[in-house]
Amino acid sequence: EFVSVSELASMMNVGPTEVISACMSLGIFASINQRLDAETIQIVAEEFGFEAEFVSADVQDAIKVEEDSPEDLVDRPPIITVMGHVDHGKTSLLDYIRKAKIADGEAGGITQHIGAYSVKLDGKQLTFLDTPGHEAFTAMRARGAQVTDVAIIIVAADDDVMPQTKEAISHAQAAEVPMVFAINKIDKPGANPDKIKEQLSTMNILVEEWGGKYQCQEISAKHGKNIDELLEKVILEADLLELKANPNKNAVGTVLESSLDKGKGYVTNMLVEAGTLRIGDIILAGKHTGRVRAMLNEKGKNLDVAPPSTPISILGINGAPSAGDKFYIMNDEREARNIATRREQLYREQGLRTQKHITLDEIGRRLAIGDFKELNVIVKGDVDGSIEALSDSLLKLSTEEIQVNIVHKAVGAITEADVNLASASDAIIIGFQVRPTVTAKKLADDEQIDIRLYSVIYKAIDELKSAMEGMLSPDI
Ligand code: GDP
Repeated sequence: EFVSVSELASMMNVGPTEVISACMSLGIFASINQRLDAETIQIVAEEFGFEAEFVSADVQDAIKVEEDSPEDLVDRPPIITVMGHVDHGKTSLLDYIRKAKIADGEAGGITQHIGAYSVKLDGKQLTFLDTPGHEAFTAMRARGAQVTDVAIIIVAADDDVMPQTKEAISHAQAAEVPMVFAINKIDKPGANPDKIKEQLSTMNILVEEWGGKYQCQEISAKHGKNIDELLEKVILEADLLELKANPNKNAVGTVLESSLDKGKGYVTNMLVEAGTLRIGDIILAGKHTGRVRAMLNEKGKNLDVAPPSTPISILGINGAPSAGDKFYIMNDEREARNIATRREQLYREQGLRTQKHITLDEIGRRLAIGDFKELNVIVKGDVDGSIEALSDSLLKLSTEEIQVNIVHKAVGAITEADVNLASASDAIIIGFQVRPTVTAKKLADDEQIDIRLYSVIYKAIDELKSAMEGMLSPDI
């Protein structure tokens, strides 16, 4: 009942027929999509030299994620991330919105940094993640957490569409998060918003004014000009998503950040995504647990309950879970502690990284199993011309069975951001006349991301083509 024959085969990197014959030797006649019971999995895994661990099944059983019935679902506020090149105004925009829009009427305490904040505009609530930039966004996604509904891509009108602007766009696109463009610093004498729109158009991003689908607003974050207009466009974009959540169940959500405070103990900033969090709830977050002792919002106000899309800072967890860890509410404290302890052991032994990322060598096998339809590729290179040429040729390798997607392409060395994007979107990285940085190399080893370096274009194309035909010999 846990995994199917083909899933088990792919986990162990063997052909499904090998698993089928192993089952047969146990007297089980299994088809490729048949789900196997725990005992069979255990025995088959051992035959191939693996030990089966039923972590997720156990954990999932104990956590009992509740199903939502349609009548329980109510509208929830969108969660928004601001991304863009350094110095283009991300912090200024977030600061301005925080100051202008956090209703001061209800402010009891001092504004706190809790990783996110909620604002109201015309009776609509919006939640902003307070860590700007795509690094945090993609690092979270690499851990399996996606907490953004709409991305604001900010570009300074007195500058150009810069490398990190392009990166931010690629990262949002890879996550399939809709984007609204904010062209900032229009108060500056050298501002040229049209130039920015034109540069965006060369990346196939057409703003509405140019007949495209992307909403765009000229703003001045520093002077607070046109910010309401920008937010209205964000709301419009979010409305299309019809975001809903069930508030009438135990809370689930994501950890944004955590720290140790000398006086208060561990402080965990998190976002409730569904359900309602209450004081006294038994919480499990990553490998830590505890009871919610206190909840604060960004105004420093104590809360008793936190509904969906509420950012909160809580006290009561017995450690510091990582950004991107999911949290769950448990009914039984002992059970919560057991799972936490088991996760702790796992982390120590192997890291809780059961997900294996795609490699060129593995493509053939995955194709044979038939669960592989898209090959995501990140292309980095030394000059624009060769990146374009290479990307075009790679796209043309697409067949009926397998579609090649270029999730990101840019000039420059292979960086940690690239590896995180590869991890988040299960991509391989191709470097043409460039190498990974030392930290990127290390991260890629940890995350098992396949980085392939080439200095001749046709070699890259040939190798990918062979891989896609299942012909790549593993020792290349
Ligand atoms: P970040 O690196 O993207 O977070 O950018 P910041 O928000 O820190 O802004 C970088 C610099 O640009 C700061 O000196 C800001 O004061 C300035 N800045 C941001 N927005 C505007 C704007 O709308 N107009 C002008 N003139 N300066 C701005």
